[in-house]
Amino acid sequence: MTIIKDAVVTIDYTIKDSEGKIIESADGELLSYIHGSQTLAPGLEKALEGKENGHQMEVTLAPEEAFGVRDEELVREVSLEDFEDSSEVSPGLVFHADLDGEVRFYTVLSVEDDTVAIDGNHPFADKTLTFDVTVTEVREASEEELEHGHVHGEHGHHH
Ligand code: ZN
Repeated sequence: MTIIKDAVVTIDYTIKDSEGKIIESADGELLSYIHGSQTLAPGLEKALEGKENGHQMEVTLAPEEAFGVRDEELVREVSLEDFEDSSEVSPGLVFHADLDGEVRFYTVLSVEDDTVAIDGNHPFADKTLTFDVTVTEVREASEEELEHGHVHGEHGHHH
């Protein structure tokens, strides 16, 4: 079967920056997703469309097609009191929160007295990235998976 909307696709992948340095890889943890569910970088989903199991490719994507362009409005300050456990809050901490109607991952930039500076941009924002991808499985999604919006089983979601 080829990769079409609602197919469950499993991939092995490596992501390199524009200098060829590997910045992320599956490292044995294959990734399963439902095609068309906007789980992957948009350009990568597009590139996988119509491919088959075993397909191997290298695709270079501009930030707009990868993890987005930096938005300085996502850099903001919050109060230390807003955190459940303020002793945990230190630069580099990543957490998710809904501060503007959308759940995002934020990274703590600095903590000064009661003020915490956070950044909601993806760490790979503004980067042109090269994805080395091998498709290792393509199958139909079960009705349950489509209902839940995520993949069940070995490389997916465990309930
Ligand atoms: Zn589920």
